Amino acid sequence: MGKITGVFTWRHFLISSLALNVGFVLRFVNEGVISRAEQSMGNGFCVEEKKMMKFSETVMADGEAHVSKRGPHVSSSVNACTDGQDRVINLDHGDPTMYEQYWQRMGEETTIVISGWQSMSYFSDVKNLCWFLEPLFASEIIRLHKTVGNAITEGYHVVVGTGSTQLFQAALYALSPSEASKPINVVSAAPYYSSYPSVTGYLKSGLYRWAGDAHSFSKDEPYIELVTSPNNPDGFVRQAVVNRHLGIVVHDFAYYWPQYTPISYPANHDLMLFTVSKSTGHAGMRIGWALVKDEDIAKRMTKFIELNTIGVSKDSQLRAAKILRAVSDSCEQVDGKGENFFKFGYNLMAGRWRQLRAAANESGLFSLPEFPRACCNFLSRAFEPQPAFAWLKCEGEIEDCESFLRSHKILTRSGRHFGVSPKYVRVSMLDRDEIFDLFVERLSNIHS
Ligand code: PMP
Repeated sequence: MGKITGVFTWRHFLISSLALNVGFVLRFVNEGVISRAEQSMGNGFCVEEKKMMKFSETVMADGEAHVSKRGPHVSSSVNACTDGQDRVINLDHGDPTMYEQYWQRMGEETTIVISGWQSMSYFSDVKNLCWFLEPLFASEIIRLHKTVGNAITEGYHVVVGTGSTQLFQAALYALSPSEASKPINVVSAAPYYSSYPSVTGYLKSGLYRWAGDAHSFSKDEPYIELVTSPNNPDGFVRQAVVNRHLGIVVHDFAYYWPQYTPISYPANHDLMLFTVSKSTGHAGMRIGWALVKDEDIAKRMTKFIELNTIGVSKDSQLRAAKILRAVSDSCEQVDGKGENFFKFGYNLMAGRWRQLRAAANESGLFSLPEFPRACCNFLSRAFEPQPAFAWLKCEGEIEDCESFLRSHKILTRSGRHFGVSPKYVRVSMLDRDEIFDLFVERLSNIHS
């Protein structure tokens, strides 16, 4: 009996030691993943998100394949144990999670099933200039622009990209003169989208280089001007500012949708970029599209994507097609299905901007931009822009608004990243209700 017990204990010891070691290794791997994610997300990947990542890893360990199904509940269940005051509110990234509630309400309407044998080929439509563009997705893009009236599509080539971030790089590649003795200048008016300098510069390309604020560009040299309208970070409607004969303009229309700004005209510029990230809120799908007038430029952009990633995920394009279709159906009230997506977004943003302005007033330490009203052809009413980001200014003595807000456990992005004064910060308006409510409440209580 004693012998049996001894053997048992010895085995037991081996098994426990193995389990402990595996535990340590897993922990090491997990933390490695988290710290790498932290580094890559840059500034302010907060404690709460670390918790969220650990939670989603648990979800996968549970064998739940559709992590996204449980996504919207992740933050509330993790956060249930933290009290409002101690909580770090991370509004640094423009993560569009506020849209989850709409898509949850749509239920199975936008679910797609892709069998193992589908979406296998590299090719989608060999007759199309952009041979990896799924025809179903292309037709839903055209339908959506017609429905919303925010862009002309006749006479344009559609190029799909892994987010508009890839398309932006494809555009720089396509627009840079290939035989030039030095890289072409890339400019944008400050405050500009903080990714432009880093995405333009990170490969130290011989084709193009970041040349800073378009307002101060005075060289008599070729240039590419990036025009974001409405603008990230400040929400204003914009036009090119350089206007010289050697210039090419790229229009980034990530936010030219009726929940954010009045749709005053159907845009018809030479090269226009769009993304599902901020239009429908599906940033994780990594899908964007470009409308390109010139055939050669569209071909060169397609070539860039071929060299860069040999096309764009078909699975994502098919899912995007289903989502865009649901959006257009909701606008046209096909079969009376679902609330109009843009009216939902408009109402949510309008309510949030009212709350934010009241909180800034209550505090007295902050100011926000004032926007002119304009008529929206899609919603048939006039309204003031209600941007996806708040461009908040710390008034008075506070010189570093980001640090000041961080001391109140609110993470934002400093004006420095956008080429302007640190008295400004950019705050995401697109987080979940619970986080946004906590933010405005905390902001309104900051008095010194
Ligand atoms: N352009 C602008 C102006 C943006 O704000 C963003 C998203 N933050 C992008 C492009 C990138 O979009 P995507 O997720 O499609 O790469």
